[in-house]
Amino acid sequence: MFAKTTAVDPFDLVIFGGTGDLARRKILPALYRRFCAGQFREGARIIGAARADLGTRGYRAFVAEALREAAAEEAGDAAALDAFLATLDYVSLDARGDRGWPELAAKLTEDRVRACFFSVGPSLFAPLAERLRRHGIVTDRTRIVVEKPFGHDLDSARALNATLAAHFHERQIFRIDHYLGKETVQNLMAVRFGNMLFEPLWNSLFVDHVQITVAEAVGVRGRGEYYDRAGAMRDMVQNHLMQLLCLIAMEPPSKFDPDAVRDEKLKVIRALDPVQPHHIVRGQYVAAPGRDEPGYREEVGNPRSTTETYVALKVGISNWRWAGTPIYLRTGKRLVARSSVINVVFKHAPHSIFGEDAGQHANILSIRLQPNEGITLQVTIKEPGPGGIRLIDVPLDMTFAEALGPEGAHHPDAYERLVVDVLRGNQTLFMRGDEVEAAWAWTDPIIEGWESRGDVPKPYEVGSTGPTDAELLMRRDNRRWLGIRP
Ligand code: NAD
Repeated sequence: MFAKTTAVDPFDLVIFGGTGDLARRKILPALYRRFCAGQFREGARIIGAARADLGTRGYRAFVAEALREAAAEEAGDAAALDAFLATLDYVSLDARGDRGWPELAAKLTEDRVRACFFSVGPSLFAPLAERLRRHGIVTDRTRIVVEKPFGHDLDSARALNATLAAHFHERQIFRIDHYLGKETVQNLMAVRFGNMLFEPLWNSLFVDHVQITVAEAVGVRGRGEYYDRAGAMRDMVQNHLMQLLCLIAMEPPSKFDPDAVRDEKLKVIRALDPVQPHHIVRGQYVAAPGRDEPGYREEVGNPRSTTETYVALKVGISNWRWAGTPIYLRTGKRLVARSSVINVVFKHAPHSIFGEDAGQHANILSIRLQPNEGITLQVTIKEPGPGGIRLIDVPLDMTFAEALGPEGAHHPDAYERLVVDVLRGNQTLFMRGDEVEAAWAWTDPIIEGWESRGDVPKPYEVGSTGPTDAELLMRRDNRRWLGIRP
C-alpha cells in the first residue's frame, strides 16, 4: 500500500548554521529519520558548518544530544544512532570571512550532489553564496537551500534573488517553505487533481468562500528582535498563507512538474486584488486577566511596538474561476489553540426539499495541516432514527487510516520530505524567485498603507481567537469563522 523508500545516491550535505536552533530541532532529526528509513546509501555525508570551535567529535556529541531530544524514539536505537553519527563531520568557519573555507572545500567529494543548507540568519545568505563560489565549491551538482525570511520587502527580495542568481542557476536554488512539505498539503493537490469529483465544483459557482487559518498558541519565543521588525504579515502571510492560497486557487497544471506547478501558482498571485484597508484587521496580543503569559510589548521589551501579531484579511482573486468568491486569511500568535486548517465552504443547496426546519447546511472540505494532519468532508445526512427526517452534518474522514494501515497514520515531518527533494533535485515544493517577488509585490502596499497611516493594531487577549474586528469582518458578509480547534 505504501510507496517504498527509494534510496538517494551518496551526497555531501553541508548544514551552514549546523549548531543552530533550526538544525537541532528540525533538519538533523529529519535527516536521522530518513537515514533510519533506509533513504541514504553507504557513503552519504553530512557536514555541520558553524562558528563554534567544536571538532567532529564535539559535533557528533552535540547531534546525539539533539536527536535524543527531538527524535527520542528513533534515537533509542543505539546501533542506528552510531551509524548516523559516523556520517557526520564538522568544520568551524566564518561565513563573513575566509576562516574554515579551504578546510570545507577539502572535505567535499568530487562528482556528487552537494547540498548546502543555509540555516543561518538572512544577512548571511549573500556572504555564503559568494564564498561557496570563491572557494570553488559550486559545481553543476551543487544546490543551495535557503530558509525564510526571503527578503523583507520586494526590493530586498529582488536584491537577494540577484545575488543568488550571480552564483547559482535558478534550478540550483531551493527556497524553502516548510508548509509545502506537509503531507496534507500535497494530499490537497492529489484530492483536487486526482479525482473527478471535486474539480468541477472548485470555482465561484459552487464555493461560497475559503478560510485559511494558521493559529499559533505560542508567542514570539526567542525571536522577538526579528519578529518586532517583521510582524505577522511578513512572517506568515507573505509566505505560508500565500502558498496555501495558491494551492487552493491554482488551475490544474499540465503535469506535476516543478515549473508547471509554479507557473500556475504565480498566475494566482498575480491575479490577487489589492486589499482594501477595511478588509484587513491587525491585532496585537495583550495579557489576559488570570493568565501568566505576558502581552506582546512586554515579551519583546518594546512598550511602543505597533507590530501586528495577528492579521485577518479578505482577499479577492480576479479571474474566471474565483471572481466573487472571497478567500479569508487569518493568522496570529498566542491564540486559543495551535491549529492550521483550510476550510473550503461550499454554497448551500439552492432549495431545501426538507423544509425550513431542516436548516441550512453547507458542505465543508477541511484540510487540516496541524496538529493531526488530515482531510475531512462535512456532508449532510439524515439523523438516524424513526419519526421524519432531521438533517445533521457529519465529517467524512478522508485520511482513510483504516484502508492505509498504521503507516498511513504516520506522516513524515515536512523537513524529511523537503530535504530528500533537495537531494533528488526536485523543486516542485520550493518557491521560485518570481513567485516570491510577486508575493512581496502584493504584500508591500498593505504594509506601506499601515505605515503611512500610522495604524495601531487592535488589542486581543492572550488565549482568545483574536480581535473582535476580525469577527466583524466576516459578519459583515453574513459569514463566520469556523472555530480554532486544537
Ligand atoms: P540560530 O541563531 O539558532 O543559529 C544560527 C547558526 O548560524 C549557528 O549555528 C551559528 O553558529 C551560525 N552562524 C552565525 N553567524 C555565523 C557566521 N558568521 N559564520 C558561520 N556561522 C554562523 O538560528 P536558527 O533559529 O537556527 O535559524 C536559522 C535560519 O532559519 C534563520 O534564517 C531563521 O530565520 C530560519 N528559521 C528558523 C526557524 C526556527 O524554528 N528556528 C524557523 C523558520 C526559519
